[in-house]
Amino acid sequence: MPLPNSIAALTSELTEWRRDFHQHPELCYEETRTAGLVAERLRAFGFDAVETGIGKTGVVGVLHGADGAGAGEGEAIMLRADMDALPMQEETGAAHKSTVAGKLHACGHDGHTTMLLGAAKHLAETRNFKGTVYFCFQPAEEGGAGARSMIEDGLFERFPCRQVFGMHNWPSLPIGHFAVKPGPMLAAADEFKVTLEGRGGHAAKPDKARDPIVAGAHLVTALQTLVSRSVDPLQPAVLSVTQFHAGSAFNVIPERAQIGGTVRTFDEDVHLLIHEGIARLAHETAQMFDMAADVYRGTDGYYPPTINDPDTASFARAVLAEVAGADQVHTEFPPTMGSEDFSFMSREKPGVFVFCGNGDTASLHNAKYDFNDDALAHGVAYWSKLVETALPKSVS
Ligand SMILES: [Zn+2]
Ligand SMILES: [Zn+2]
Repeated sequence: MPLPNSIAALTSELTEWRRDFHQHPELCYEETRTAGLVAERLRAFGFDAVETGIGKTGVVGVLHGADGAGAGEGEAIMLRADMDALPMQEETGAAHKSTVAGKLHACGHDGHTTMLLGAAKHLAETRNFKGTVYFCFQPAEEGGAGARSMIEDGLFERFPCRQVFGMHNWPSLPIGHFAVKPGPMLAAADEFKVTLEGRGGHAAKPDKARDPIVAGAHLVTALQTLVSRSVDPLQPAVLSVTQFHAGSAFNVIPERAQIGGTVRTFDEDVHLLIHEGIARLAHETAQMFDMAADVYRGTDGYYPPTINDPDTASFARAVLAEVAGADQVHTEFPPTMGSEDFSFMSREKPGVFVFCGNGDTASLHNAKYDFNDDALAHGVAYWSKLVETALPKSVS
């Protein structure tokens, strides 16, 4: 499907913006340069309001349609992009490579920010809609729960809206193609840590010690039964033990053992069930071996599952079919066990998260990954059509 001329014409400017963001990556909650540029551009486009410093470094731009602000929450929607980079060393060899050692836009948030800015520019010029669009640029998606920070800072009270929309680029999906479906798109994820407090001693006198390694080995085995014996077999779930630290000498029974890992699910009740199981097995295994267990659930890093609201997802699918052509909108694909903090927003409001083709590039979070600039105008076309369809101008 050919792109509208007015949007295709933005490509060279958008490419310049995107490469500039790529050269100046900023990590979780440090996105001051990026947020500054976003706010400056929104103001230059003639936005009705631009607010900064939300959830530390988040920005929200407010744009009213040609007919004014509309009737509150019912005629307002929010579009969301993320701005942060990853602590990685770039290996792309691109001319526009990162200028900061150890920081890289390896998840394409430079492209997400640019696509939303492109839509902001286009829609501020055309204003071919009725009501209000909130353009939300969030910090700290990569593990910092920036979306949650913005919500805790009053995002939805300050910018009341009926729906939220998110988009992520997707390597291996061709340029101009999109993917969306109702229900689970990405998993819930967090970490756990168990410390078994035994009693150290001489390896030749195990009877005087309480060996946390033996208890830990039992615990690792017992944890394998949670997904296989406690979770509904029709519910996807993963529990991976990824760390087991204990001991430093061949002839010493250590004082303690530390076991850690991650839990991934698509259902918050299942997630809770697994964590309750981890705590139960940890304490009971410790008791079995006459020692104590300390269990930590990393709730700070918890991201809920990203579940697309069925009505909002079928709406987005219809818009995408118009923008890209129905045969370029994919609806049959497995959910991924990766996670996204857009889920904090779509837990509050009906929402939909779509994937936008990034073509044949390296995978996300790979040192050779670079957002594909050919995708920019397609993303802008989706955002723009979405606004014009969700908030149609009154016909006179
Ligand atoms: Zn990422
Ligand atoms: Zn990402």
